[in-house]
Amino acid sequence: MTVRTRFAPSPTGYLHIGGARTALFNLLFARHNKGKFILRIEDTDVARSTEESIKAIIDGMEWLGLHWDEGPFFQSKRFDLYREHAYKLLESGEAYRCYCTPEELEARREAAMKEGRPPKYDGRCRDIHEKQDKPFALRFKVPPGTTVVRDVVKGAISFDNSTIEDLVILRSDTTPTYNFCVVVDDATMDITHVIRGDDHLNNTPKQILLYKALGHELPVFAHLPMILGSDKTRLSKRHGATSVMAYKEMGYLPHALINYLARLGWSHGDEEIFSMNDLIEKFTLESVGASSGVFNPEKLLWLNQHYIKATPDDELAGLVAPFFESLGLNVSGDARMAKIAGTLKERSKTLKEMAESGAFYFKDKVEYDPKAAEKFLAPDNDSLFALIIERIEPINAFNHKSLEEAFNAILAEKDLKLGKVAQPVRVALTGGTVSPGIFEMMEAMGKGMVMARLNDARSHMKSLAAK
Ligand code: GLU
Repeated sequence: MTVRTRFAPSPTGYLHIGGARTALFNLLFARHNKGKFILRIEDTDVARSTEESIKAIIDGMEWLGLHWDEGPFFQSKRFDLYREHAYKLLESGEAYRCYCTPEELEARREAAMKEGRPPKYDGRCRDIHEKQDKPFALRFKVPPGTTVVRDVVKGAISFDNSTIEDLVILRSDTTPTYNFCVVVDDATMDITHVIRGDDHLNNTPKQILLYKALGHELPVFAHLPMILGSDKTRLSKRHGATSVMAYKEMGYLPHALINYLARLGWSHGDEEIFSMNDLIEKFTLESVGASSGVFNPEKLLWLNQHYIKATPDDELAGLVAPFFESLGLNVSGDARMAKIAGTLKERSKTLKEMAESGAFYFKDKVEYDPKAAEKFLAPDNDSLFALIIERIEPINAFNHKSLEEAFNAILAEKDLKLGKVAQPVRVALTGGTVSPGIFEMMEAMGKGMVMARLNDARSHMKSLAAK
């Protein structure tokens, strides 16, 4: 048997963190078992489905690197198939024509609610055998008995069929309904494992009954516990960003989010760091936990920092470039980028933070933090700067080693501690007192800019002295 899983989003919004985790688990399970992962867009609800949302979901999956093997299939293009299957059930007597109008159904529902009865369709059209000349819907005839959902994550759950209403499978306008489409698709796409959020658990007994009526073998079900926010309620915007692409914009690396999502409900001992290959190798449904994972933004940030540090400088340069651009800084074609990224990566939790803290590399003029300038660019530092300029001007191999040597010589001659020299230089080059190590930074900045900024600092000191 070839394992076949699917991710089946309804395109009514962006790709949510929870949806991305469902997609990831389906992909990992398929890859682990050398199976196929299918993308199906559940757009039967024409009024709520949008092209924009389809694009948002696909963009989100592509950004995360969740590549599917087949699809995307669109339910809206498969209506004939659903109709065909609905009529099969009518012919076999497992569905019937229902002539009740929406108004009648509504009135009965209201009456039931008033009397405290469950507002379930009463099955009154079950026994109309003559075809009438009126619009009709097709309803599935729920058989008596008990339906047991055998779920890999949740265990066995029994549902009394008497609590399940005869659901409409084809509306009177001949459009198919949600649960029916899901079953026809999963059956005809040979889906072997249905892995989805446990908000769908209540649909599962209906779907099992439909599977049986259509004569298809049941897939394995695995319902994933919902992701919760820190206050243990279902994750929502109140807890922070829930859209996958919002994390892209905030400067997260896709694999940091993948690693984080994998651990939301799945574990492998106490390991935290997993490459994609590790995940594929280690993922099983048996190690998906039955209790909900709590979304922890701090841990995601920690993973992001880990993966930023682990990314080679030249690759990081390409990833961080758009964040510099969005600060209005032109970095395209700047040959210094990889080195610059290398100096910033140790301290940055996100790419956005990285660009913000490294903006000084790309500004025409450095902007001094007034307090830092007052303290470190006071006129009595002018002679020190003159000496530094004199010593580093002739250096041709302008790198952290040669710079460090030049500075060490100055420190020895003048009997100074590095801090005394490093802080003023740092302010002169970056405007502030926090920056990467000065020698690496000077190398990354390049001789031209370093010399210009040291000279600018001297001009600043001179203008203060003249006051
Ligand atoms: N379309 C459903 C959703 O977006 C998923 C249905 C399923 O996985 O069976 O929640």
